[in-house]
Amino acid sequence: MADQKQLARLPKVDHLLEHPALLDLRDEVDRSLIVQGARQALDELRARLLADEQIPAEDLTTEAVALAAAEAARRLAAPSLRRVINATGVVVHTNLGRSLLARRALERLLDINRTYSNLEYDLDAGARGSRYVHVDRILCELTGAEASLVVNNNAAAVLLSLQTLAAGREVVVSRGQLVEIGGSFRIPDVMARSGAILREVGATNKTHLHDYEGAITSNTALLLKVHTSNFAVVGFHKEVPLKELRELGDRYHLPVMEDLGSGSLVDFSRYGLPKEPTVQEALAEGADLVTFSGDKLLGGPQAGVILGKAEYVERCRKNPTNRALRVDKLTLGALEATLELYRDPEKAMAEIPTLAMITTPYERLRERANRLAARLKKLGLERLEVTTVPGVSRVGGGAMPLSAPRTRLLQVSIKGMSPTRLEQALRAGDPPVICRLEDGHLLMDVRTLVADDIAVIVKALAGLAA
Ligand SMILES: *Cc1c(COP(=O)(O)O)cnc(C)c1O
Repeated sequence: MADQKQLARLPKVDHLLEHPALLDLRDEVDRSLIVQGARQALDELRARLLADEQIPAEDLTTEAVALAAAEAARRLAAPSLRRVINATGVVVHTNLGRSLLARRALERLLDINRTYSNLEYDLDAGARGSRYVHVDRILCELTGAEASLVVNNNAAAVLLSLQTLAAGREVVVSRGQLVEIGGSFRIPDVMARSGAILREVGATNKTHLHDYEGAITSNTALLLKVHTSNFAVVGFHKEVPLKELRELGDRYHLPVMEDLGSGSLVDFSRYGLPKEPTVQEALAEGADLVTFSGDKLLGGPQAGVILGKAEYVERCRKNPTNRALRVDKLTLGALEATLELYRDPEKAMAEIPTLAMITTPYERLRERANRLAARLKKLGLERLEVTTVPGVSRVGGGAMPLSAPRTRLLQVSIKGMSPTRLEQALRAGDPPVICRLEDGHLLMDVRTLVADDIAVIVKALAGLAA
């Protein structure tokens, strides 16, 4: 039996709203949300009492309920999309927003979006212009492409290219490249959506040039190569190099397209990382079209870039589907500013957060980890235990799946709290700190920390261990 007396004694909403804890909140939180917060707090207590839960009397006082209501109102007022601290060491973390923008790109976003802009206005002609010109010159300059088109993301770039070049006709792809990337992007499904017909060739581990050649018919529209992104085949394995596909395409008058996925403009092998094909190389090796993401290894905003022969890019641009995949001015401004940094590769490596994080030397990471550990030890909290241990980070975003750059991890525990609980508590913080749980340890990778993240982590742990 629910405790009727306790139920009856719960404060009324109007009464709660007059409590100082909620009156003071009016400066920060809209009144409608304070009312919702009060209702939520009361509903929750009522439900618990009706479920015959024993609730201590001190949790049912007006004071206690008002504080719970204030907390609920604050939660309701917090934006849904907000900052988190990425202590996972996965640099291009799709769930945490992929790439952070360079300062230059952030400044451009503000500049272009608090005033009107020439988004689709040709200033020389005084007439309507095209939004696509803004990044076209720089994309072609940096990559050697004849023409460019930017759409909403790379999934859209692949869809649009396939539909434009091959709807109703066949596209030849290796069975080893029919990949699924996170977030339900699957080459066979996108192909089906585009109206193109998938013509798979070869085996999972090996595809030869003669496999492609044997599949070509009068209905073939395109030879497609797909970067296998997030997985790798090791051992008995063969893929046909783009150059050979190009020669085959020339013999049969067929265009060749490569979906690069990450699409890096820099050669990471110069920084001791695995070789990823660059956009420039794919174009130089003869791809008629390449597609890649703006927010993976490029380190810019979410976007899909299509580059290549003017003839094909132009057809993509004119395809009515392009209107539905249209890129907006926030993206264009941030993308143009990010690309500008690539004119000086050293500047790009230093100022584009994704590139800087991926290539941070181990020594710097070790120093950063030691500094964070020292600040935590200085708190002098008896329950807090911190050590640094060696480990590896991940590039993420489907790039370099086998690469595990060496890093230094903080292993943190709080006496009387399980690692799982600690992970949850840090995730519930404001801002949330997202960590790794591995082999029953809570780990923080300092590679992906930025700005004042360290101060936030120190404060969060101080609060939990106090
Ligand atoms: C990531 C990826 C995509 C999808 O790109 P989005 O920008 O996430 O839409 C497509 N193809 C490959 C090979 C990828 O790695």
